[in-house]
Amino acid sequence: MRLLEVSGVSVTFDGFRAIDNLSLAVEDRGLRAVIGPNGAGKTTFMDIVTGKTRPDEGRVVWGEENANLLKLRESRIAQAGIGRKFQRPTVFEDQTVRENLAMSLKAPRGPFAVLFARRAEEGRIRGIADEVGLAGQLSRRSGELSHGQKQWLEIGMLLAQDPRLLLVDEPAAGMTPAEREHTTDLLRRLARDRAVVVVEHDMDFVRRLDCRVTVLHEGSVLAEGSLDFVTSNPDVIDVYLGR
Ligand code: ADP
Repeated sequence: MRLLEVSGVSVTFDGFRAIDNLSLAVEDRGLRAVIGPNGAGKTTFMDIVTGKTRPDEGRVVWGEENANLLKLRESRIAQAGIGRKFQRPTVFEDQTVRENLAMSLKAPRGPFAVLFARRAEEGRIRGIADEVGLAGQLSRRSGELSHGQKQWLEIGMLLAQDPRLLLVDEPAAGMTPAEREHTTDLLRRLARDRAVVVVEHDMDFVRRLDCRVTVLHEGSVLAEGSLDFVTSNPDVIDVYLGR
C-alpha cells in the first residue's frame, strides 16, 4: 500500500526553485534511500513531508484515507505518524536512557489507560531499548553513551511515538564501523513493520542498506531503482559521481 505520495511539488526560495515538480511515493513498509549531491533538495523534501516547509504547488497525501498533509500543522503531522530523525542526536543528556524513552511515550488516554499505564510503560521501554540495542543501558545517563548509542536512543524515542514513516538524516555519520553495522541492521529490521526513508551521502552505507534508491537532482527525481541500477545511469554518473 502507498503510505505517502508527493506529486508535482515545487518550492521556491527567493526566486530559486529548490524543489521542482517533485513526485515520489513511499510504500507502507520497507527501506528507501534518498541520495543526491549537495543542494539536490533532500533536506527540503523532508521539510515538506514534516510540514516545516510549505510548497508553492503540488500535493502531499498520506495513508489509506489520502489525508492532505499540506493542511496539517507540523505537530499534527508528527501525530499522524511521521517521525524525523535529524543528523545530530538530541537526547536529554542529564536524563537516563529510561527517562528519555519514558518522556517520548505517547500519553495514555482515558482513566483505565492511565491506571494500567505504569506497568505497560516499563514493558514498552524495555521493548524499545531491546529493539534499538540499548537493553543493558537503561539506567545510564544518556550523556555517557557513545555517539552511536545516542543515535539509537533517539531512534528509540521516535519509535515510542509509533511512527508509520521514519525519516532519517544520515544516520551513520560519525559512527565507528561496528556502530554502522548495528545501524544498518536496525534500520533494516525497523523497515519490516513501517516505512523508513534514509537521506544519505555515504554510498558505502547505502550499499549496505541494500534497498531501493531515489536520486534527487535539482529538486526532482533523476533516477530510481537499486543502487547498481541508478549508479549505472549516465545522468546520475554525470551529476552525482562527477565523472
Ligand atoms: P540538500 O539537503 O540535498 O543538500 P537542500 O534541500 O538543503 O539540499 O537545498 C536545496 C536548495 O535549496 C539548495 O540550493 C539550498 O541552498 C536551497 N535552500 C534550502 N533552504 C533554503 C532557504 N531557507 N532559503 C533559501 N534557499 C534555500
